[in-house]
Amino acid sequence: MKGQFGKRSLFVGKWSFFLPLPTMSTRKLYIETYGCQMNVVDSEVVAAILLQHNYQVTEELDEADLVLVNTCSIRDNAEQRVRTRIREFGRLKESSHSFAVGVIGCMAERMKEKLLEEETTVDLVVGPDAYRDLPALLQEVESGQKGINTLLSLEETYGDIRPVRMDSNHVSSFVAIMRGCNNFCAYCVVPGTRGRERSRDPETIVRESTELFEKGYREVTLLGQNVNSYRWKEEGQDLKFEELLERVALIDPQLRVRFATSHPKDMSDELLKVIARHPNLCKAIHLPVQSGSTTVLDRMKRKYSREHYMERIEAIRSYLPDASISTDIIAGYCGESEEEHLQTLSLMEEVGYDFAYMFKYSERPDTFAAEKLEDDVPEDVKSRRLSEIIELQGKLSLQSKKNDLGKTYEVLVEGSSKKSSEHLYGRTSQNKVVVFPKGKLKAGDYTRVSITDCTSATLIGNVVN
Ligand code: SAM
Ligand code: SF4
Repeated sequence: MKGQFGKRSLFVGKWSFFLPLPTMSTRKLYIETYGCQMNVVDSEVVAAILLQHNYQVTEELDEADLVLVNTCSIRDNAEQRVRTRIREFGRLKESSHSFAVGVIGCMAERMKEKLLEEETTVDLVVGPDAYRDLPALLQEVESGQKGINTLLSLEETYGDIRPVRMDSNHVSSFVAIMRGCNNFCAYCVVPGTRGRERSRDPETIVRESTELFEKGYREVTLLGQNVNSYRWKEEGQDLKFEELLERVALIDPQLRVRFATSHPKDMSDELLKVIARHPNLCKAIHLPVQSGSTTVLDRMKRKYSREHYMERIEAIRSYLPDASISTDIIAGYCGESEEEHLQTLSLMEEVGYDFAYMFKYSERPDTFAAEKLEDDVPEDVKSRRLSEIIELQGKLSLQSKKNDLGKTYEVLVEGSSKKSSEHLYGRTSQNKVVVFPKGKLKAGDYTRVSITDCTSATLIGNVVN
């Protein structure tokens, strides 16, 4: 899961070629994106909608007429970062030039009017299902009013909109296949901020992925909160995720396909068999566990036990012996005892994760946990447990890389290494980053690299002729 929790400002750069020519009244849009990959795609959808309404994307804040902040509510610190940023925009508005400020995404949905009341710099608040209303809302803002639409939808998938790609490498891209979530994990704001789960028409998914391939992209990641529950009625039959995945795999063997996220309660053997059948379906499974303790999983309303999770890990190992496995872990959830925490550490060792995203539990308003459970693990204990989890994962990640020494992998080149202009970096099917000498290779090429060295984050190797 690349760049899961980073900030990205979206820019026009090489894309200007595809955009409508500026007219006298063209407005400049600057977008900052916080949070998950789904937000990255949403910003691309928003840009596509506004490009049809005389906006042009800029990476220069100084020339923006409209600043949109695409927000994340998953943890409190994500919201605090956004609030700090909004206030910076407020100061800039006073000291430099006039522009409108819009907050879009999960925080807009969660806070609604309260955001306009508490952050007076904000002119516009738009939830994740209301982006088509942006042009109309912006007219309201232009006439001096505040604009707000936080209606959630049971149908909206933006399936017909071709997102304006903002990624920097022009090699890999995200494709949303569904929106919302029906799982209601006790700690999570997503069902509240993104609404009920709905799947996107498979024809539009295959078309978008094909177009990306034709433009030179070599990797797509299909996105949903729980991709295993993807369903589409087609000629009276249910099209399931594994069938959709196979259709995307068949676009071209040179197009690598990844997906995120799988839910352990729904991950089927059929899916694993499809991945095993197609070499271009990447051998990297992200299977968030959250906790290694069945009693904590119960309190989290995750709907699986430690035993069920381990049984799924064994299934992955047996169908996909060379797959990497990554996860998400929450430290210090409501009522978590020392013994329950130790079970998380022991599960991590048992699985031997290649990679993990690790978080301290953050109570979120209006969730089951906030209303019914006590956030009773003291802050210092949460921090200590998180450090223990991070330290253990550091060792497991290093071991995972060491296991690759002496092996040769097919690598998709993504770009220049940050540390050396003489080196490129790319990824293996297992989603491990590899750095190697440049030679005559360029982004988008496939090459075989033999692994000679590693750190806990990166493989280092030489191209094999
Ligand atoms: N739908 C995916 C799943 O269930 O695996 C993940 C979606 S969520 C955007 C990404 C991760 O954030 C979760 O897997 C969980 O580890 C973490 N997360 C969600 N709510 C949290 C909370 N209240 N406090 C800390 N971490 C949280
Ligand atoms: Fe949140 Fe659970 Fe849905 Fe993932 S599956 S988005 S953690 S409610």
